[in-house]
Amino acid sequence: MTITEVLSRLDDKPLGAEMHEFARSLFPICRSITGPGFRETMARVEERIPVEVHEVPSGTAAFDWVVPREWRIRDAYVKDAGGCRVIDFQECNLHVVGYSVPVQARMTLDELRPHLHTLPDKPDWIPYRTSYYTDAWGFCLTQRALDALIESTAEGAEFEVCVDSTLEDGALTYAECLLPGSSTEEVLISCHACHPSLANDNLSGMAVAVALAQLLGGVARRYSYRFVFIPGTIGSIVWLSRNEEAAARIRHGLVIANVGDPGDLHYKKSRRGDAEIDRAVGYVLGLHARRHVIEEFSPYGYDERQYCSPGFDLPVGSLTRTPFGRYPEYHTSADNLDFIEPAALEDSLAAYLRVFEVLEGNGRYVNRLPKCEPQLGKRGLYRAIGTTPGDRTPEMALLWVLNQSDGEHTLLDIAVRSGLPFAAIRTAADALLEHGLLGESDPQG
Ligand code: ZN
Repeated sequence: MTITEVLSRLDDKPLGAEMHEFARSLFPICRSITGPGFRETMARVEERIPVEVHEVPSGTAAFDWVVPREWRIRDAYVKDAGGCRVIDFQECNLHVVGYSVPVQARMTLDELRPHLHTLPDKPDWIPYRTSYYTDAWGFCLTQRALDALIESTAEGAEFEVCVDSTLEDGALTYAECLLPGSSTEEVLISCHACHPSLANDNLSGMAVAVALAQLLGGVARRYSYRFVFIPGTIGSIVWLSRNEEAAARIRHGLVIANVGDPGDLHYKKSRRGDAEIDRAVGYVLGLHARRHVIEEFSPYGYDERQYCSPGFDLPVGSLTRTPFGRYPEYHTSADNLDFIEPAALEDSLAAYLRVFEVLEGNGRYVNRLPKCEPQLGKRGLYRAIGTTPGDRTPEMALLWVLNQSDGEHTLLDIAVRSGLPFAAIRTAADALLEHGLLGESDPQG
């Protein structure tokens, strides 16, 4: 089976609903950059694809960073004088600020207020807040709930405030799925998995990444594919610090996130800007004149910041739908399971597969008979491939590949210049190679 065949089967059996269902199953888990929620999530991933789970002890140095203490949260609430939970972690895990230190206290609303976070502009949404690297605690709630609390609280009334958490030495967990190919050169797919009940950021990325690993597991691969499921920022830093050798084998990479919203696909280029991955994604997004956005690299965003730091400068871009921070639901309770759509997950999955189809099939060749056109008819090549009557694509692909294969242009370049589908260009190149009309280009060239 090839990626091209996998793509054609997607039309018959869409996987959007299945990916959405996986996101739904992960949604209630309270994840953070360390702790049992992240571990449980990796266990769910392991039920679907072969992964190696790593535990890196707190205190381990990773370049300029240190693996933090492990956060465990059991319960968190604010109770009013009548013992009623007016803010309740059990009802929604976004209610507690991630990495909150333990608290057990009685205080007035005035004393509590500096620890309460709302979104006044979006009065029905709960914000998502964390405090990973500064000891703090807090609660998040809707503006409407806060207004009601202020309204109903008598002067001087005391609340019982509890964050039943621990911050102790433990470990940072991450998981990798390596699908070996015929080459040890790697394609990296990096997915942060550290957010609690938020769907687009980041469960959509996990759902599509897992589906990609399942599908790629069943195809013949040239490249080796490495999927990493990591906590954001600290996870990629830790991974890079422990895997410099593997990092040197990465030929192409994509950071996956925000792939379930209905917005257009966006691609943020690698730091290099003209890497093969940048050109491959640009080509795929331009197919069928679909609406899309391509943006230059910037040292802000997700884990591409680390992969593209100057000491690594890996060819890693980020393929998303609406990027982080550019949809109002981002990092709020409105980034829920209704916000991500099976059709969008499906479309993102197909786009990633088309990129891999290009990477797998790309190559640079030389025309062995470059003086005038070789006679294709006597070799049975003219109208020999392709079966649809009147479809001139196979012939045109042969002519384009012969014309452009001067050792300079890759098959991807030829697909871009000819406007023909990449798969047709690859098929033509295979036919010409078989007939000795095309030769391998000097790999150093
Ligand atoms: Zn986020």
